[in-house]
Amino acid sequence: MMKLILLGAPGAGKGTVAKLLTKMDGSVQISTGDILRAAVAAGTELGKQAQAAMKAGELVSDDLIMGIMRERLKEDDCKSGYLLDGFPRTIPQAEALKVLLADMGEELDAVVNIDVPRDVILDRLTTRRTCEGCGEIYNVKSKPPKEEGKCDKCGGAVTQREDETEEAIGNRLDVYNEQTAPLAGFYEKEGNLLTVAATSSEAVIDAIKERIGM
Ligand code: AMP
Repeated sequence: MMKLILLGAPGAGKGTVAKLLTKMDGSVQISTGDILRAAVAAGTELGKQAQAAMKAGELVSDDLIMGIMRERLKEDDCKSGYLLDGFPRTIPQAEALKVLLADMGEELDAVVNIDVPRDVILDRLTTRRTCEGCGEIYNVKSKPPKEEGKCDKCGGAVTQREDETEEAIGNRLDVYNEQTAPLAGFYEKEGNLLTVAATSSEAVIDAIKERIGM
């Protein structure tokens, strides 16, 4: 059981690390990006509000995100621990999360900052493919699905995300540097930051295990 925030640029491996960790100890992965993509696909009101910003690689509003997370963190499955993947992404979200966790009487085990060089990130994002059904992550070079375009796990369509065009990727990295990178300093002050400079998810997981004594 662990409660972690996974920080890092798009393509740093937050989702991959989260999926590996959930298999190890039953904590749930909570990805605001996955929640939003599902809402867009289902055409809900939330999806309609988030769609344009997402497609352009901009952030959706803090209010919208906090509304989602306030509900999500109350769900039963969070009792066995959670890995926050892609949230928080701005200082106001981090401040609001701090208040929310204090209200719930909960404490994080660590905030893991996955630090990957920009050239590796760019290469990963352009070659990444994602299952539209279950969110499983593939890569055309290093981890293609067994059958082209079809998810090994759920049989869903494996495609390139709408925000993985060159332009949107550039935007997402700029947004990350401006709005999300400052969270490392925020959590350093809080005293629970673990920065891991690693390009392999296994190395990141080893560092996490060591930190939380698993
Ligand atoms: P991700 O899958 O984490 O890369 O998220 C995809 C997109 O969803 C982002 O580019 C944003 O438009 C939106 N998004 C996801 N999480 C957040 C968040 N915590 N705050 C604002 N926007 C978010």
